[in-house]
Amino acid sequence: MRLEIKQTLEAIPVMAIFTVPFFVAEVRGLSFIYDSATNPEFTHPLLSLFGNAWNWIQFPVFLTFTDFGIYWIHRALHSKFLYKRLHKPHHKWIMPTPFASHAFHPLDGFAQSVPYHLFPFIFPLQKFAYIALFTFIQIWTVMIHDGEYVANSPIINGAACHTMHHLYFNYNYGQFTTLWDRLGGSYRKPNPELFVKETKMAADEWNRQVVEMEKLVKEVEGKDDRSYGPAEEVGVWKEAKKVQ
Ligand SMILES: [Zn+2]
Ligand SMILES: [Zn+2]
Repeated sequence: MRLEIKQTLEAIPVMAIFTVPFFVAEVRGLSFIYDSATNPEFTHPLLSLFGNAWNWIQFPVFLTFTDFGIYWIHRALHSKFLYKRLHKPHHKWIMPTPFASHAFHPLDGFAQSVPYHLFPFIFPLQKFAYIALFTFIQIWTVMIHDGEYVANSPIINGAACHTMHHLYFNYNYGQFTTLWDRLGGSYRKPNPELFVKETKMAADEWNRQVVEMEKLVKEVEGKDDRSYGPAEEVGVWKEAKKVQ
C-alpha cells in the first residue's frame, strides 16, 4: 500500500498538468458543457433532437463512449512496446488494494483519462452531470481495485473482473462493462470461488491463482523483476512461495 500511494503521489501532479489544456478550453467556452438543455449557449444536433431528455440520455452515452475508449487505450497499453514503457508500473500490483486505483505511470494514467476529457468536446454535457460523473468515476476506479467482489454480473466489469486483469494480464481491459471485452474476444469470467466467502481467501484457491499468474508473468514480462522491499517476505506471499 505504501508503494501504491508513492506511485500515485508521483503520478497525480503530472496527470493534472496534462489535463490543464482540457479545463482551460472548457472554461473558455470551447466545449459543449451546458446549463440548460432547452436554452444552451451553442447549437448541437443532439440537444436540438432530444431537448430535456438529453439530461438523462447523456449518462448511458457517457458510460458507453468512455468504456469503449478506455477499452482500446488499455488494450493498446498491453502491446509489447507500450506495456514495458508505460503500463508495467500499474501491473506491479498483482493483488491490488484500493490505493492502486491511481497508481500509474503518469502518461498511462493520463492516456486512460482522455476519453472522459474528450466527451464534452463531442457530446453535450450538463455541468452538474459533469461533476456527478467525475465523482462516480473516481469511486468506481477505487472500487474495482478493492478485493470486495460484490457484483457477479455478466455485464458489469466489477472488482472481480479487474482482479482477473491484475492476475492474468491479457483479459478484461474494460472499465464499466464487459461489452467491449466480449466483442474484442478478451473477456474472462471471474473464478466462481472469488464470490464464496469460504473459498475466496482459501490457501488452495490462492495457490492455484499464484501458479497460473506466475506462468503469465513470464509470458508477458519475461523475468519477474518485482520488488516490494522488506515487506515482501510476509503473509500470503511467503505462504505461496513455500508451496512452490
Ligand atoms: Zn492493464
Ligand atoms: Zn488496475
